[in-house]
Amino acid sequence: MSELLANAYSAAAFRQQGHALVDLLADHLERAQAGTDPILTYHDPADQLAHWQADFNQPPITDLLPLFAELVQRSIHVHHPGFMGHQVAPPLPLAALTGLLAGVLNQGQAVYEMGMSANALERLTTQWLARKLGLGATAGGLLTSGGTLGTLTALLTARAAAAPADVWEVGTTSRLAILVSEEAHYCADRAVRIMGLGTEGLIKIPTNDRFQMRTELLEPALAQARAAGLTVFAVIGSACSTSTGSYDDLMAIADFCEQHGLWFHADGAHGGAAALSDTYRPLVSGIERADSVVVDFHKMMMTPALITAVLYRRDADAFRTFQQKAQYLWADATAPDWFNSGKRTFECTKRMMSVAIYTVLRTYGEGVFADNVDVLYGLARRFAAQVCGRPGFELAVEPESNIVCFRYVDAGRTPAQTAELNARIRQQLVEAGRFYIVQTTLRGQLYLRVSLMNPFTTDAHLTALLDECQRLVDDYVREE
Ligand SMILES: *Cc1c(COP(=O)(O)O)cnc(C)c1O
Repeated sequence: MSELLANAYSAAAFRQQGHALVDLLADHLERAQAGTDPILTYHDPADQLAHWQADFNQPPITDLLPLFAELVQRSIHVHHPGFMGHQVAPPLPLAALTGLLAGVLNQGQAVYEMGMSANALERLTTQWLARKLGLGATAGGLLTSGGTLGTLTALLTARAAAAPADVWEVGTTSRLAILVSEEAHYCADRAVRIMGLGTEGLIKIPTNDRFQMRTELLEPALAQARAAGLTVFAVIGSACSTSTGSYDDLMAIADFCEQHGLWFHADGAHGGAAALSDTYRPLVSGIERADSVVVDFHKMMMTPALITAVLYRRDADAFRTFQQKAQYLWADATAPDWFNSGKRTFECTKRMMSVAIYTVLRTYGEGVFADNVDVLYGLARRFAAQVCGRPGFELAVEPESNIVCFRYVDAGRTPAQTAELNARIRQQLVEAGRFYIVQTTLRGQLYLRVSLMNPFTTDAHLTALLDECQRLVDDYVREE
């Protein structure tokens, strides 16, 4: 081995670097959670690139800390109480630490020997979650890299189960389609197109004034699709949707699917975790009847990205997704080789995701997940009440989850002017660095959008957010 390689693999250096890094990150967590520093220090993309380009051209470093500190400083701080933008969890420090373990052990997982414990923990954690969702004794699943890939995986399983011919052998021989709400996450659209079903493969069902699928329109949509020569094979229920966090009526979708022999997929990437809360469990009523469910641990379950569960009511279904006929007959429900993860997942090599979930469960118990849902969903309801109590501010819809869409309106402005004002509020908020929120367009209107992902966010922070919005409105009016 060269001296360079020997240095790069030095266990002694790792020990020293690791301690220093953990100290740096612990300091970062303390500061971020206290919320005293800005959430992000904004540089435009060209400046950011120029900074790193200059750094890249420097000679090799011996002290890592300045580099790590710079990376922290030039990143958005998801543990800051003002972080309420996208649906990314401030990960539990313990869950992040398991990433270090997973990185060092580097279990490839696809075959048993390359992930002996990893495969066992994956089995236990997915079965645990399936049980919590109420999917029953024969349920199981797998872990994969994100809800987008999880949705594709579940829809591939659905197609394998439902298509008239063996798709794995002969390809898609009929014009297949699925039904989704118009508010469904774009990953459904993407999956359908990857599967080669084209634009006609995704039939969008309109939503009601609460942005939930109008399930009474499923029946006519199915009839119309059939009349047009399409074979509908699945329906996706959103639990919850991304823009407004609205839960579809999963019970009605389950009834419809049962009646017509369709695969029921529940997209619980964000909101499936509500099943763990006694208070919010009713929101996902019906999820226990789904054929497949996707839940992101990196959203409401406090792990770093990406860790997604794809759960099946009949665990054996998972073996149909990527298997040739002879092989999936062999891996039947009574002898499924759950320990060879690669058989059922899109990935061949994948990270040891299960260790993050398992360690959190073993250390804090499942109550930590319920607490997180309770805190964040409760916070959203109280924030909505604050919005309603402020003259000029309005909600898009009463929140069902921890996602709240709101805006400032006054009678004198056209819709375009209202949109411009709200977009400006958001831009200035983000640049000021105390709050990070996003925006979305609902039925043609621009709304400010918060996802309350951080249990360090309090009612007082949300009052301060609205005060800040009001101040920006006042500035704007003064300038007019
Ligand atoms: C976030 C999200 C997804 C996509 O999941 P990723 O893990 O980001 O790939 C899918 N569906 C819903 C409802 C989501 O909120």
